[in-house]
Amino acid sequence: MTKLALVLPCYNEEEVLETSVARLTELLRGLISDGTLHPDSMMVFVNDGSRDRTWQLIVRASRSNRLVRGIHLTRNVGHQNAIMAGMLTARTWADVVITIDADLQDDLSAIPRMLEHYREGSDIVYGVKVSRRADPVFKRLSAMAFYRLQQKMGVDSVFNHADFRLMSRRALDILADYGERNLYLRGLIPLIGLPSATVDDVISERTAGTSKYTLKRMLSLALDGITSFSVRPIYGILYLGCFFLLLSLFIGFYVLHALIVHTAYPGWASLMLSMWFIGGIVLLSIGVVGVYVGKIYTEAKHRPLFNIQEIVGGEEDSEL
Ligand code: UDP
Ligand code: MG
Repeated sequence: MTKLALVLPCYNEEEVLETSVARLTELLRGLISDGTLHPDSMMVFVNDGSRDRTWQLIVRASRSNRLVRGIHLTRNVGHQNAIMAGMLTARTWADVVITIDADLQDDLSAIPRMLEHYREGSDIVYGVKVSRRADPVFKRLSAMAFYRLQQKMGVDSVFNHADFRLMSRRALDILADYGERNLYLRGLIPLIGLPSATVDDVISERTAGTSKYTLKRMLSLALDGITSFSVRPIYGILYLGCFFLLLSLFIGFYVLHALIVHTAYPGWASLMLSMWFIGGIVLLSIGVVGVYVGKIYTEAKHRPLFNIQEIVGGEEDSEL
């Protein structure tokens, strides 16, 4: 039987907490009584430095409900780090972890489907938003644009997947080896490479409270999502430098022509030429320096070179 830990990051969620606990209790009890889940399965609320009564409510729930556990972080570290804290702590308590936002905007009916994929051998199951109708128009459009840009930048992430996902303990152990500081889990987890699957996730509206993702937080996450995985912007500068140098060659011909046919003002030719030429050289140089910075950046991440899925042979009990 699978022992599940639901991990829910919470930042100022006092308004939704009680309903979320109630809905998840019902879900877990159902899955425990039909034998899908181990009776010691749990929900783990990670209090990400909330300034309201969130932690008091978690403590109270954990006293009256044995399915509830809480982790209290010393200060607000942001959604991604809070999820990481929850997953890495809960992996010692359970076989699988499912991360889901505390406002339960994600589709709870996807949870049994995720578990089914897990039983069939997937180590990672991504919840993929099939309908964002409940999201505000701006959020929908900006998210779309962002996923597209990410693909263009060569970041390998699952389209329209946020942080609603199942991970097995094996996958979490590998994730723990990634020493990343600028966490962007949606880009990092596909790098693990274990068997994975996706399930549909129909988003609903927040039942209470407001979105904790301000525009500033969204932009900073988007920036992390690209700059933590792609060095293409640096190469963009390098190519631009090459292009400008090439352009200065053509401008050189143009200036020469103007000199020959006497349409040039005195001093114009030297200004014109040096502007384009030096501009090109400067960009190219920044690009070259950038390429080295890019190498330092990949080295500094200390990502594992490989992840082992399975080893066979050499067991004590093998015959002969
Ligand atoms: N959250 C968090 N730390 C933060 C910001 C948000 O743990 O600094 C949690 C929040 O409590 C919620 C989840 O991250 O459970 C997603 O936030 P929210 O629902 O506000 O984002 P949205 O659904 O609007 O993208
Ligand atoms: Mg939400």
